[in-house]
Amino acid sequence: MTAPLAVDIDGTLTGPERALDPRALAALGEWAGPVVIATGKALPYPVALCEFAGRPIAVVAENGGVVCIGADAAADGEGELVVEGDREAAQAVADDYTDAGAGRDLGWGALDIVNRWRETEVAVSRASPVEPLRELAAERGLDVVDTGFAYHVKSPAVDKGRALRTAADRLGLEGEDFVAIGDSENDAAAFQAAGRSFAVANADATAKRAADSVTEAAYSEGFLEALAGVEGER
Ligand SMILES: [Mg+2]
Repeated sequence: MTAPLAVDIDGTLTGPERALDPRALAALGEWAGPVVIATGKALPYPVALCEFAGRPIAVVAENGGVVCIGADAAADGEGELVVEGDREAAQAVADDYTDAGAGRDLGWGALDIVNRWRETEVAVSRASPVEPLRELAAERGLDVVDTGFAYHVKSPAVDKGRALRTAADRLGLEGEDFVAIGDSENDAAAFQAAGRSFAVANADATAKRAADSVTEAAYSEGFLEALAGVEGER
């Protein structure tokens, strides 16, 4: 069997400016094994990515807070949605944060579509100061994870590793069956749950430490390099 993949989006399937690499999209579409998109983004983004890659929906969203498997029309209503974490507690931290600092906000403007569909956590722009956010989150027993694109306030019980095991179970697989590819500290738990893991060259120190291998190339080029490595090992 071609190895199942667990793949991050931002910084892994994209370039530095966050644009999705069309070669990465094509590679996902063509991968012969199962693919789980595992991201810090809210659910609509990875669901759309599965659709546009022409793949069945198999998604970990919100850094593990949401798992969605087989919810496509083709699955005949047999899909499953697992929602963990505590959006209300994360929102309380966000409210503390914006109340405490004069003029401080989450950094997304009045419309804030970054958080609009978020069910288990709240994301704060990396342009905002993180230390007060960490302190306020700790007061309410929550974590802050830095995905390299945003700070995410989330339950410490939720991570991509636990969610990957949940997704694997629903797909009739084990976490260790997967090859995980990512670029930031929120991917480290998925690397531990997977049997094989790659950090792309732009990854942060935590992700690089947790991964079995670090690619020579960065961003989507590193993703493609990892895929070629996995195929070469078969
Ligand atoms: Mg990433």
